[in-house]
Amino acid sequence: MKNECYIVRDLLPSYIDQLCSDESKVFIEQHMSQCDSCSRVLQHMRTEFDDVEQVELPMRIEQKKPFEKVARFLTAQGNFTKFLKASFWLSLFITIILLVFSFNELAIWQEDQQEAQRVEQQQQDIMAKAFTALSAQDRPNETALQTIFEQYQEQLQHIAIFSTEDIEDTSTSQEGPTTVFPIDYERASLVLGEGGEITESIVPNEYDIGTMAMANNGWVVQFEYKQSYLETVEAAHQIKYYSPSAWTLFSMPIVLSIISLFIFITWRYQKQIMRPMRAQVD
Ligand SMILES: [Zn+2]
Repeated sequence: MKNECYIVRDLLPSYIDQLCSDESKVFIEQHMSQCDSCSRVLQHMRTEFDDVEQVELPMRIEQKKPFEKVARFLTAQGNFTKFLKASFWLSLFITIILLVFSFNELAIWQEDQQEAQRVEQQQQDIMAKAFTALSAQDRPNETALQTIFEQYQEQLQHIAIFSTEDIEDTSTSQEGPTTVFPIDYERASLVLGEGGEITESIVPNEYDIGTMAMANNGWVVQFEYKQSYLETVEAAHQIKYYSPSAWTLFSMPIVLSIISLFIFITWRYQKQIMRPMRAQVD
C-alpha cells in the first residue's frame, strides 16, 4: 500500500457522505482510477453503509409507529368532534323548523278549540233559554220559544218540546245538552221550525250527532241542526273528544331539543378533553 492509499482511506468516509472538499474528491477519484485495492475498499464500505441503512430504516419506522398511532387517534377524535359539531347544528336547525311548525299548529289548534267551545256554548245557551221559556208555565210558551228558534235559525232545523209524561224513556241528560237518537216528533207537545209551529209529521235526522236533547223535571227540549251546519257540529265534536293536547303538538321539538342538548354537551366535552392532548402532541 502506498502512502497515498493511507490518505485516501482516511478520507473515504467523508467521501461517501459527500462531505469532503472538491479538491479531495478529485484527488480520491484520480487515485481510485489507478488503485484497485482502494477501489475495492470503497466498494466494500459502500455496501456496508447500505446494510446499515437497511437495518436503520425499519428501526426508524418502528420508532415512529407509536406517534403514528397517536396521530391516527387524534385524527379520528378530531373527525368525531367535527361530526358532533355538524350533528349539533343540524339537530338544532331541525328543532327550530319543528318548533315553528308546532307553533303554527298551535295557532290552528287554538282556533279549533275556540270554535268547538263556541258550538258547545251555543248548545247550552239554546237549552237555557228554552227552559227559561218553559218555567212557570203549564204549557210551552210558544211565542218565547219561536223567538229563540229564530235567533238560531241559521243553525237549527227544529226545536221540539216534550212533556216528560209523554215519553217513557226519560234517561235524557239533565246535566247538559247531549247528542241523542231523536225522540219521535209525534209525541212532542210542540215542534217549531221556520215559520212557526210544525204540525205535519217530521222524518227525524238519522245522524247521531245532529240532534241534541236535555231534560228537566217537566220537559225535554230537543233540537235538530240544519244539514248545512252539520259539518261545523261534527268538527266541534271531533275536537272536543279526539283533539290531542297542546303538549302533543310540541312532543317532536321537545324530543329533538333534548337530543340537541345531549349532542352539544358531548361535543363540548369532547373538545375539552382533546385540547390538552393536542397541546402535548404539538
Ligand atoms: Zn490505493
